[in-house]
Amino acid sequence: MKKQKMKNILINDFNYARSLIEASLDPLVTISSVGKITDMNEALTNITGLTREELIDSNFLDYFTEPQKASNVYEQVFEKGSVADFPLTLRHKNGKLTDVLFNGSIYRDEKGNVEGIVIVARDVTEQKKAAKELTEAIMFAEMATMIAEEAKLKAEKDRLIAEDAMKAKQQFLSNMSHEIRTPMNAIIGFTKVVLKTDLTEKQKKYLRAIKISGDALIVLINDILDLSKVDAGKMVFEQIPFRMASSISTMLHLFETKTHEKNLKLIKIYDHRIPDVLVGDPVRLNQIILNLVGNAVKFTSKGKITLSTKLLDEDEHKVTVEFSVTDTGIGIPDSKRETIFENFQQASSGTSRMYGGTGLGLAIVKQLVELQEGSISVTSKINEGTTFSFILSFQKTKADTELEIDLAEYDTEVSNVKVLVVEDISLNQLLMRTLLDDFGFECDIADNGRIAIEKMQTTKYDLILMDLHMPEMNGFEATDYIRNSMNCDIPIIALTADVTTVDLAKCKAIGMDDYIAKPIDERLLYRKMLGLIKKSNIVEEPDLTELNDSAKIKCTNLKYLNTRTKSNRVLMAEMISLYLEQTPILICNMKQSLAKKDWEALHAAVHKMIPSFSIVGIHSDYEEIAKKIQEFASTMQQTEDISDLVLQLENVCNQACLELLEELNTYKNTNDE
Ligand code: ADP
Repeated sequence: MKKQKMKNILINDFNYARSLIEASLDPLVTISSVGKITDMNEALTNITGLTREELIDSNFLDYFTEPQKASNVYEQVFEKGSVADFPLTLRHKNGKLTDVLFNGSIYRDEKGNVEGIVIVARDVTEQKKAAKELTEAIMFAEMATMIAEEAKLKAEKDRLIAEDAMKAKQQFLSNMSHEIRTPMNAIIGFTKVVLKTDLTEKQKKYLRAIKISGDALIVLINDILDLSKVDAGKMVFEQIPFRMASSISTMLHLFETKTHEKNLKLIKIYDHRIPDVLVGDPVRLNQIILNLVGNAVKFTSKGKITLSTKLLDEDEHKVTVEFSVTDTGIGIPDSKRETIFENFQQASSGTSRMYGGTGLGLAIVKQLVELQEGSISVTSKINEGTTFSFILSFQKTKADTELEIDLAEYDTEVSNVKVLVVEDISLNQLLMRTLLDDFGFECDIADNGRIAIEKMQTTKYDLILMDLHMPEMNGFEATDYIRNSMNCDIPIIALTADVTTVDLAKCKAIGMDDYIAKPIDERLLYRKMLGLIKKSNIVEEPDLTELNDSAKIKCTNLKYLNTRTKSNRVLMAEMISLYLEQTPILICNMKQSLAKKDWEALHAAVHKMIPSFSIVGIHSDYEEIAKKIQEFASTMQQTEDISDLVLQLENVCNQACLELLEELNTYKNTNDE
């Protein structure tokens, strides 16, 4: 009975142990000290594909892909008593492999002798798969980052290449236009001169044809240059005060002959609620109107062309104006209404043959309007006519248009005018001489800036016409010298063959009064010259009370800068900022060089300071002080306390900086409003 009970207990224990072993999903196996399998659970039979009977007493190491490695681990278990998480791979009889983590420990009999080892081989296939996927995902992410970075680098490289190409294209177009325009200038100019002489009707006809072709070529060159500027994002718009009504009248005036020839009526409807003086880019506005009215005249054979302006909106700071050009011409088919604004697009393939043109005009007009945040639209009916309308906003201003003088203001009383033409190309020299002869002006020619300056030492001129690109000393350098070293304010007009790329701001900043584009429009040249000569003939009586008062309070006076920049606040702000940037450095250099007794450096610092005095209107007494310091620095003959003189300059410059900073802030505030 007792025996039976014991037997039952043993059976129970065995069943209990068995169920524990079988409960494990991981293969579990016992191995004898000679490496033979003595027991296992079902998981091992599944993973090897062998039956219990086949496995029992077989060599345990045979089921691993790397038996030698398995054998080493197996020995380690005996040596250390246990081994944990050693990675190995088990092979199924059909070849399928299972990655496992080998965990083993020895087991002993009742007497404590080592009988064998128990091994649990944890199946880690899923973890390995997940880890592999994770590694792959990381690799992919890293590769994607690398590819993206490479793409970014390539895009950057491509952008630089494209930028370089664009710059090269710009440069090429600019150079070519200059090269083409210079001889064209002579061709058109001399044609005009010859047209004024006695000619037969036939000769006149041929010469007119030459002139018309030349004019067309210039328009084409300008158009291409303008478009390339738009492409390169370099189209710059001026913000200067101008009179819109007179600007529009002048534009329409240009079409009078043409409309008269074609027997067309040219009508202007002007909304007089538009303020007299507005701030914007009059040259670009003219260009838009010229293009639209030019097209209207070209595509209309009878009836009228109407240019109307309408004030759409007005607030404290700006006005919005709608401009419309209406004609009674051939009209534009519906299907073409959108495409005509694209480059080189004309409404029909026969347009160029019948009416000429290249299809660039409207593309430029659209860009000019849209870049100024305006809009343009067209309505049209075949054989009835077309209306192009565009809307633009302009800033209001209290400033007047300093250098724009109405035609009505001119008179011919100006006499004995002596003009210095600074120009290196002999054909152009001859042309200018002929033009100035016609105006009744006396003229001297200098081949470059250096010769011009030499001539100015011996002869008094009323005005200078200055080419910009010349050998030895160019127009900018010469003007800089005349203004800053000679302190001479003779009117200077720049002559340039490259009106769209010329740095107009540079012309103004350096002190030129105006510019005129080649081929020269003689009426415009005459008008500009007369305006400047008359202006400089008016001797401004200084208001002494004002001068004295302001001298006490302020050491700067922006009258000069205002005139030079034509009250262009952006330009003024730029110049003031430049002054504020440079002056403290110069003051510091001046003081340090005095302390170190470095006379050369002192001379240089003061030398750099002098030109700015007249620009920001610091009294000429300080220029004298500066010159005394320079004299001392070069001769070492001290007549006055040099450190006192340096202190005076330092004080006035510091005060000027404070005043100008305040001025700059008021500009910024008004711009922010
Ligand atoms: P272009 O005049 O040099 O051909 P534009 O870009 O100025 O180039 O004009 C493109 C086309 O639009 C013209 O060729 C013409 O077919 C059409 N077009 C422009 N203005 C008018 C107009 N006022 N009346 C009829 N067609 C016009």
